[in-house]
Amino acid sequence: MPETIYVNSTRKTQFIDITAQVEEIVRKSNIENGLCLVYVPHTTAAVTINENADPSVPEDILNILNQVIPWEAGYKHLEGNSPAHIKASLIGSSVQVMVEKLHLVLGTWQGIFFCEFDGPRHRKVFVKVMGI
Ligand code: ZN
Repeated sequence: MPETIYVNSTRKTQFIDITAQVEEIVRKSNIENGLCLVYVPHTTAAVTINENADPSVPEDILNILNQVIPWEAGYKHLEGNSPAHIKASLIGSSVQVMVEKLHLVLGTWQGIFFCEFDGPRHRKVFVKVMGI
């Protein structure tokens, strides 16, 4: 079974840095070298890797996504959250990171972000570490 990270978003759209929680799962896995899959089992949320040093970066990404995919655009989906579904598909439901010596191999400025597009909600992120 995959490990689960529980995320509670507090805004309609929000990037939440989950790098530390993923790193902790990798450390406890006892899998020295391999691949870590981070997977979001939701249709209105996503996961991405980007800069976590300057908080303006995720803010800018969200602002532009919200401009490109407006809240109102004659969508047909009756639930009323089509923009969230579209953003989730654009960003994607998984990322993979190499694991070396029980650590994620990330660039200096990289972090793993859970992307909320229809919050606030209680969410899950599945993490699977595979030895290679
Ligand atoms: Zn929907």
